[in-house]
Amino acid sequence: MRIGAITRDAVLRAIAEYDQLGRTDFLAKYGFKESLSYVLVHEGGWYDSKAIAGVAHKWDHGRALLPAEFSGGKDHAAAWLRRAGFKVKAVRNPDWARDEVILACHLVMTNGWKGLDANDQRVIELSALLQRMPIHAEADRNEKFRNPNGVARKTFDIATRHPAYQGKPTNGGALDVEVLNDFLARPAEMTEVAQLIREGITTGDLENLPPDEGEELDDYSAPEGRLLLRRHRSRERNKALRKKKIDAVLRQGRRLSCEACGFDFEEVYGERGDGYIECHHVVPLHQAGEGRTKLSDLALICSNCHRMIHRRAPWPTPSELRALIEARRTRLNHAVRLHPTPPQRTHQPQAPHPRAGALQERTGDSVRR
Ligand SMILES: [Zn+2]
Ligand SMILES: [Zn+2]
Repeated sequence: MRIGAITRDAVLRAIAEYDQLGRTDFLAKYGFKESLSYVLVHEGGWYDSKAIAGVAHKWDHGRALLPAEFSGGKDHAAAWLRRAGFKVKAVRNPDWARDEVILACHLVMTNGWKGLDANDQRVIELSALLQRMPIHAEADRNEKFRNPNGVARKTFDIATRHPAYQGKPTNGGALDVEVLNDFLARPAEMTEVAQLIREGITTGDLENLPPDEGEELDDYSAPEGRLLLRRHRSRERNKALRKKKIDAVLRQGRRLSCEACGFDFEEVYGERGDGYIECHHVVPLHQAGEGRTKLSDLALICSNCHRMIHRRAPWPTPSELRALIEARRTRLNHAVRLHPTPPQRTHQPQAPHPRAGALQERTGDSVRR
């Protein structure tokens, strides 16, 4: 059987059987549990989407699927039912992303660190804005997604975590506290971040940026949230811009070497590495609004250094990273002099690249800070 290939007719027959047996008996008969993430909505009724999708196979393929054979999520049951023309909705809305908490926290700050009610015009406006944000797929939202009640609740979750708040905090989670602390430590910067995110959504500028590979993992870390990070990454991966930057550097007679560690792809890999280098956009996210990227906003950087910059916030500038590498190198050399390696062992501490010490001074327009 082709798993997941179910027809509308088979789904309707599964629904009919569900109605006839009742929820408990239907689930028990086929061994399914209640759906926790998605439900099928049909003619005003709610159905356990995974069980319906599994049982629909009985008519299309001769036997119902066992619960262990597939998932109920958006890659399996929910997707199959949608493909057959049914409405499936998320039982609970996705957790708040950092970008969303930043906007809510900014609102709480402008309100003197007090929570706001659901009928407050600013809450209603923020609710509409959050619903336009291109972070959570339509399919993962239900009809209460970021409605004014939910937004108002979030403002209280944040406000009651403020150090000056006397009572018990309402719900809220670790992310609320993290963002709140960012606002308390760097209010001006975080305000700019909030404004940039708002602007980007209102103008549509942030709408169609592709999500970054590691944005939900720990690979990239930006306190400014996912959307500004997406814009940053798409700017530095812009092929035409990268080519322009490389051409400009070559025209100045400079080599394509990493501004942080000096690594030169051609020197190490020969022809295979010829002309290769990555670009890092050096303007901090909270300052990089709309508008064109200037060549001077881009620094040449090797893949390793680029990863290291993005790995943990705050991101070092290429020259800060270079200072870090140099300091380590000095410390290592010093340690070697104090504790010379015994002659029978030839291992030397590894310098980060083959041209250790040959770090070039950057010239001209290479970095703007
Ligand atoms: Zn490097
Ligand atoms: Zn970068």
